[in-house]
Amino acid sequence: MPDQPKPFTVLVTGGAGYIGSHAVLALLDAGWRVVVLDNLVTGFRWAVPAEVAFVQGDIADMDLVGRTLAEHEIGAILHFAGSIVVPESVTDPLKYYRNNTAASRALIEAAVTAGVRHFIFSSTAATYGIPDEVPIREDMPTRPINPYGMSKLMTELMLGDVAAAHPLNYCALRYFNVAGADPQGRSGQSTAGATHLIKIAVEAAIGKRGHVGVFGTDYATPDGTGVRDYIHVSDLADAHVHALDHLVAHPRESLVMNCGYSRGFSVLEVLDTVDRVTNLTIERRIEPRRAGDPDRLVADNSRILATLPWRPRHAELEGIVRDALAWERKLAERSA
Ligand code: UDP
Repeated sequence: MPDQPKPFTVLVTGGAGYIGSHAVLALLDAGWRVVVLDNLVTGFRWAVPAEVAFVQGDIADMDLVGRTLAEHEIGAILHFAGSIVVPESVTDPLKYYRNNTAASRALIEAAVTAGVRHFIFSSTAATYGIPDEVPIREDMPTRPINPYGMSKLMTELMLGDVAAAHPLNYCALRYFNVAGADPQGRSGQSTAGATHLIKIAVEAAIGKRGHVGVFGTDYATPDGTGVRDYIHVSDLADAHVHALDHLVAHPRESLVMNCGYSRGFSVLEVLDTVDRVTNLTIERRIEPRRAGDPDRLVADNSRILATLPWRPRHAELEGIVRDALAWERKLAERSA
């Protein structure tokens, strides 16, 4: 519930996309006024609630961004817009350096010019590359192994320099594996051609695909399949709202924080959970390893727990799967 009137309006770039649309819901639930900027290349207009002002366009369009920031008296930007497909970043790196790094640079410049004070950035565990140990702490080396991770790390580095030079503070949130959907069914992962495990598994569960490939069974993990730290998208969205409150309360402080639960599940554990939730048995097909997949990626989340009042509310894997499944069924009904 909103406690007191908010001091300014928040711009959410990529607010019509998967994570951005959940962040918009979390901001509205907390009483913020929100404007969404999205070019709708991968986002959906329907994912933006009717009460939110919507601007269709590109974050690299500095005129448009400048006008939007001034018109709506924006005090903070939550920046989700960008390209997110890791294999594509390997084959088309310049797209990632354009859409993620260069476009972010333009957005940050527009923010500085307009006097925006706070900036929250969607970063990623891909900034770590292959970690020496898990759980991964924020002070461990960042050695991305693909242009996607590098494009995000470069933006983090720009923000560090900009925050030192201008009256703007920032928070880079390094997401681990984001999954699930709004428990109230207001949004979810809707992009066609999904590659993420939980999305693929629930698509298989509702008959949208025949089987799930298990990419490698010889990893150095208990059952040989890759282990990841799956975080519910609504918990992740809440982390942004808390991060915003923190930036406002501590205008000289900037933060880099992992977003995960400090626990991992293997591919087979995820598929077993989907079976349990659906009472079905998804067909698993053992397939070769996917290039560049580390054995285990698990966040050490002690920094975010120590810094923000954020606490996971949807950490159970069954609940994540249930919400993902409910959304998948809704999508199927919609397209039927
Ligand atoms: N994975 C899999 N089959 C799939 C998709 C993913 O076995 O169809 C595995 C993948 O190798 C990794 C884990 O599931 O170990 C999570 O992959 P995802 O693509 O969801 O996220 P990533 O960790 O690559 O960002």
